[in-house]
Amino acid sequence: MTNEEKLEIFRKTGALQEGHFLLSSGLHSNIYFQCALVLQYPSYATLFCGEIADFFSSFDFDTVISPAIGGILVGQEVARLLGKRSIFTERTDGFMNLRRGFSLSKNERVLICEDVVTTAKSTKEVMSVIEQSGAVPVGLGSIVDRTTEQPELDFPFFSTIKISAEVFTQEQCPLCKENIPFIKPGSRK
Ligand code: ZN
Repeated sequence: MTNEEKLEIFRKTGALQEGHFLLSSGLHSNIYFQCALVLQYPSYATLFCGEIADFFSSFDFDTVISPAIGGILVGQEVARLLGKRSIFTERTDGFMNLRRGFSLSKNERVLICEDVVTTAKSTKEVMSVIEQSGAVPVGLGSIVDRTTEQPELDFPFFSTIKISAEVFTQEQCPLCKENIPFIKPGSRK
């Protein structure tokens, strides 16, 4: 699949919207991206997660681990395609944890999967969970790379597509200056 074909799927499902948006961070942007809207279609989940699975198919690992909620579906699908175990971390009281009886053993090799990597904050939180168990991260797979600078990781990072967005404070927003009304995504009008 070409990048343009992928973008077309994101646009068609509403996962990628172009315009003038007020994000939940309070910043304004010309792009709104919601990965769940593409993953709601299992065939698209298989298509995108298949690229991640292909990239890591020759890597030696036992388990896929993902941060809840967005990463769970991606991790589950990549694990299904490669015949691996899939577990997820959850944030409780501000800290990322393994719950529900999930565990990692010492030296267990794990692949981290996410839907979107923006600042790699959740990736690093998952890495700390892996390290606390004495397990070993072997890679990071993500549907979308939205980073503005390459995250510092000791293992390969693969994403199926890179989507950059411009973000502005309201005062600096050129779309506001043009009096283009903004949309607050996720809210009904
Ligand atoms: Zn604006």
